[in-house]
Amino acid sequence: RNGASPEFNIALVGALGVGKSALTVKYITRRFIMEYDPDLEGTYTKHEDWDGHDVIVHVMDTCDKEDSDHSRYLKWADAFLIVYSITNRQTFEVARVYMENISNYLKGQERDCPVALVGNKIDLERYRQVNKSEGSELATEYDSIFYEITAAEEYELVEKVFHRVIQEAHHDKYG
Ligand code: GDP
Ligand code: MG
Repeated sequence: RNGASPEFNIALVGALGVGKSALTVKYITRRFIMEYDPDLEGTYTKHEDWDGHDVIVHVMDTCDKEDSDHSRYLKWADAFLIVYSITNRQTFEVARVYMENISNYLKGQERDCPVALVGNKIDLERYRQVNKSEGSELATEYDSIFYEITAAEEYELVEKVFHRVIQEAHHDKYG
């Protein structure tokens, strides 16, 4: 490929405390860091070697407030990770609302954007409140990708989700 490296914007959305910041930092740095400012929103950049080509990945770790303007990430993103915690049913219900809203937004768009539903914190299996089948059914309903993962263990598990959406976004954006 000649010219500029392909770039992808990935937005993480979901309820407070589900691990959006932990997953972002894990993907960017391969480390699990326990504590973040819960109000912090930020965008981070990473280069990936994609079959010998440079790919630039920007990750927006969002933090929605009650009346915040969602267009800041809706317009920006080439792919969405909608995150909930398998240990907290309420966060799954919040994820359902994001699935609906993002899918409605994308219906009015020319472009295709991959959406992945992500059940986080599977290292806390003993506190599970949301069955894996419920997650996969919700994802199927919206024709989305589904993964259960944890930010607290192997990097490869987190990487897999990001690589999957990059692969699909690459297909949508560059063919
Ligand atoms: P955010 O509000 O969605 O950005 O959530 P954070 O990334 O700040 O995470 C909230 C809390 O959950 C923090 O105490 C994290 O250390 C913890 N956490 C995040 N992901 C995981 C995970 O996969 N496993 C466990 N055990 N804790 C997690
Ligand atoms: Mg956060």
